Amino acid sequence: MATTTPTPAATPAVPSYPEQVTGMDILVRALRMVGIDTMYGLVGIPVTEVAYIAQARGIRFIGFRHEQQAGMAAATHGFLTRTPGVLLTVSSLGFLNGLTATTNATVNCYPMIQISGSSVREPIDLEQGTYEGLDQLNIAKPLVKAAYRVNKPEDIPTAVVRAYRAAVSGRPGGVYLDVTTPCLGAIMNKADADKLFYMPVDLCPTMPPAPEAVKRAVDLIASAKRPAIIIGKGAAYAGVEDKLKTFVDKTGIPYFPMSMAKGVLPDDGPLSALSCRSTIMEQADVVILAGARLNWLLSRGHGKWSPDTKFVQLDIDPEEIDCNRPIAAPVVGDLASSLDAIIAQLPANTAMDPAWVSMLQAQSKEKNAKFAERLTSNALVMPMNHWTALGAIKPILESNPDVILVNEGANTLDDTRDSINMSRPRHRIDCATWAIMGMGMGSAVGAAVATGKSVVAIEGDSAFGFSGMDFSTICRFKLPVTVVIFNNGGIYNGIGVNMAGTSDPAPTTLNIKARYDKLGDCFGAKSYYVTSTGELATALKEAIASKAPAIIDVQLAADSGKESGHIGYLNPAALEKITV
Ligand code: ADP
Ligand code: MG
Repeated sequence: MATTTPTPAATPAVPSYPEQVTGMDILVRALRMVGIDTMYGLVGIPVTEVAYIAQARGIRFIGFRHEQQAGMAAATHGFLTRTPGVLLTVSSLGFLNGLTATTNATVNCYPMIQISGSSVREPIDLEQGTYEGLDQLNIAKPLVKAAYRVNKPEDIPTAVVRAYRAAVSGRPGGVYLDVTTPCLGAIMNKADADKLFYMPVDLCPTMPPAPEAVKRAVDLIASAKRPAIIIGKGAAYAGVEDKLKTFVDKTGIPYFPMSMAKGVLPDDGPLSALSCRSTIMEQADVVILAGARLNWLLSRGHGKWSPDTKFVQLDIDPEEIDCNRPIAAPVVGDLASSLDAIIAQLPANTAMDPAWVSMLQAQSKEKNAKFAERLTSNALVMPMNHWTALGAIKPILESNPDVILVNEGANTLDDTRDSINMSRPRHRIDCATWAIMGMGMGSAVGAAVATGKSVVAIEGDSAFGFSGMDFSTICRFKLPVTVVIFNNGGIYNGIGVNMAGTSDPAPTTLNIKARYDKLGDCFGAKSYYVTSTGELATALKEAIASKAPAIIDVQLAADSGKESGHIGYLNPAALEKITV
């Protein structure tokens, strides 16, 4: 019987599909296009894959334990690099936690972009209740410099470019970018997506001042008998230290740095009037504000201006001018352009009275000697107080000028700022314009990641508590950060009294016996518990030299430190006057 060989069934042709990408791929690629190489955040629904894709595509992802600290890191990254720091958050609470940092960045003029996943719009708009449903865009709007929502993957590249421009151009600030869950998950053909990307031109344009504004300022500066420059963190941000040096060398005008502008010009330079703030406020006839606002930090409890002082204000934001005092010569423009223009036109000789400078120098010498005496007279006090500890820390940090100092607390902030001279720009990062607590670990991470430099964070014990768990982030990423905790057992100090007489601690009382150094054992860092200046100096030197995570619990006396540090005048009532 003849057999037939069955014909093999034809192998079906594999259908070819176009390569596809998601909104998340497009987002990461759009960020890469504008040069973003680092992202700080905390993942969960709906952004986990964003972080994975970012990491895979060459964006370093620094994962935190709390979004607020990831945001503080992004903000510090922005301040130090003049490019937006990027924060990635989940919807609802994660978004809100991060928003505190984005808002703080906006107040401080730091460029950052908070990108948050948000839930499906429809049930939010109808208030039907949905997973992590919150009208995030409208919440963010009044608190940030700009806020955008992106609903379609096609719009992501434009949204990222706009967020970038808003963060860095003009007065920098925090930008919120809301990306909905459907947008993150939407699928597009790769070939179509490829067409969406473009290289934006001139992302942060220079803004030169008007020639007549420059002339007005130059005339006023040249006619001043008792001039002074106040350098603010806007100047630190703008990177104009060389131009300011030229200006000071050329004119011989003394300078006073705001807290985060310490080191833009050296604190101990011959024309530094660091300890002469009130004399400048009372006696200067012309004050040049270089990237500093005449806000609460330059008025009220912080001194009183003479009614005759005239101001030259160099600022990028025209709305800042006249906001607290009349400004005789506003120079609106970016600081680099404004300083160049002013320097080019300054006459060789000005009307400055040399006696003004020598008076400020004599006063500086006298006040600096008093400060030095405060440190030496406390050197042997046991248990240590803030001054004792700072006497041991000062020579170590001043001989390591490349270490970035992060600093927060009440007395810990004030006394550290007053004790430690800075000699390099952008090496001091603190609670800044709002004088907030809770930026320490985040800013330390941001500073170390953005610069690759070593960081020392000097923290009050209360301040540390806000961000303490993110010490573990320092450890996971093996960053060269030393955390120094001034442990006086309380908010302000550890001697608060519970006026009800119950066993509950007083509102300001923490725990004088707390051993913060044990966190080092917990997360695998070098740890030290120190009770003397000798131990503190040895620990700090060793920790900095190790270029690895370290934590030092500095045991202070519980009565070291006063209510609210230097700003007790802001309390509505003095604590001792409260009766029950
Ligand atoms: P400080 O607290 O040190 O006094 P502020 O944050 O109050 O500093 O002020 C900084 C100022 O610097 C802000 O008014 C901001 O608009 C301005 N600024 C920021 N960047 C620039 C820049 N590139 N050029 C000019 N001004 C700038
Ligand atoms: Mg304390």
